[in-house]
Amino acid sequence: MSDYSFFGAVSKSFDKAAKFTSWDPGILEQIKQCNAVYRMNFPVKIGDKVEVIKAYRVQHSHHKTPCKGGIRFSTMVNLDEVMALAALMTYKCAIVNVPFGGAKGGIAIDPKKYTPYQLENITRRYTAELIKKNFIGPGTDVPAPDYGTGEREMAWILDTYTSMRPGEIDAAGCVTGKPVTQGGVRGRREATGLGVFYGIREVCKMDDVMKKLGLSTGVEGKRVIVQGLGNVGYHAAKFFREGGAKLICLAEHDGAIFCEGGLNEEEVFQYKKKNGSIKNFPNTKFIATSAEALEIECDILIPAALENVINGENAPRVKAKIIGEGANGPLTPEADEVFIKTGTLVVPDMYLNAGGVTVSYFEWLKNLSHVRYGRMEKRFTENLNAHILGTIEDLTTKKVSSRQREFIMHGPEEADLVYSGLEETMITATHEIMNLWKSNPEIPDMRTAAYVVAINKVATSYAELGIFP
Ligand code: GLU
Repeated sequence: MSDYSFFGAVSKSFDKAAKFTSWDPGILEQIKQCNAVYRMNFPVKIGDKVEVIKAYRVQHSHHKTPCKGGIRFSTMVNLDEVMALAALMTYKCAIVNVPFGGAKGGIAIDPKKYTPYQLENITRRYTAELIKKNFIGPGTDVPAPDYGTGEREMAWILDTYTSMRPGEIDAAGCVTGKPVTQGGVRGRREATGLGVFYGIREVCKMDDVMKKLGLSTGVEGKRVIVQGLGNVGYHAAKFFREGGAKLICLAEHDGAIFCEGGLNEEEVFQYKKKNGSIKNFPNTKFIATSAEALEIECDILIPAALENVINGENAPRVKAKIIGEGANGPLTPEADEVFIKTGTLVVPDMYLNAGGVTVSYFEWLKNLSHVRYGRMEKRFTENLNAHILGTIEDLTTKKVSSRQREFIMHGPEEADLVYSGLEETMITATHEIMNLWKSNPEIPDMRTAAYVVAINKVATSYAELGIFP
């Protein structure tokens, strides 16, 4: 276990990085604190009983508005956790240049214990509480999916919001991660996992970084372990496999499966759906606990489940060369210290899993502009490309193959633009963090470098806003 609470751990990492900046201590203190905390208890009728539901929404920073961050449903939800996650959202948004302040929400329930109808009641009531206190809205605070929630819950939130705010033209932007039919954007579902892949792929392209780790350049052929087959883990696994890496182990809360030859995440996912567990998946070795899987020798380890899974106790046994934090806060500060000594590269959460909020930003922009990405330019681009290609073919009297023709002529659809915007965002952020780290060799790890980037951006924004005397 860690010596720190989760928010304490985030604050500790913040302080470690703040030393490498020259901002006024008052500004640093303001950035660190959670600006607004809303703790609520509300009754919901479950069967013939009334249950008191505990829930939270924390707005960590208002240096940019709206605030942004997911809502999780889990029995582990508590104020400390929501505060820590809200703070991480502020830094995450700053790093990827998404103009939001950080926020997070949570309801302390086990969603598996309720029927969909009961969950809908809980979600709608929670939304009504947020509306009452002005803690939700396209210009104030915009929730999204997180652990234990998804598109369905976001649709309930939107519907509750629009029914209580009739006629609000930008209402669809009050929540992101919605189904596409309800104003969602194509590509949001896989965004976090895809961002994890883009981020690690970029790091793996850096010759000097790979050389230091004793690894070859590129993700191709790298042996990867993913912990958590939820939305983030599943998609990260998929993109790593499609990118040429080998998934040697997939871990779930009730155990893990190992296969040196490589696994296919979709087959494992379907097996789990049918059998309720990944246990006994054919031609694999079963590992009784998820924690053991973290200690298997591999090139890249992606913890994509919950916080605090690698701490001072088990970190010395972790053999991965690169750890990519798909989840928020999977490593404790004590684990960070161990990996600084072993030279393991920890690619930190608040940059690596920022793909979700990046595409949420695209979704929010789509909602405010009331038009699907690609609608205006797709046909124009295709006509232009056809014209250019036709002219070249006429001039050269040669014809391209039909496959090449299709590729050249293709005008961008919504998903193409979202993927491209996400790729650009992750590549830019990777270089920004790495360049800062390389320019200051005193900075001990990539997490600290990422925090310095985030602090500089948030502090600049505070300084430019002006602080009242
Ligand atoms: N819950 C996700 C995260 O932790 C996404 C947040 C969002 O899209 O606003 O980054």
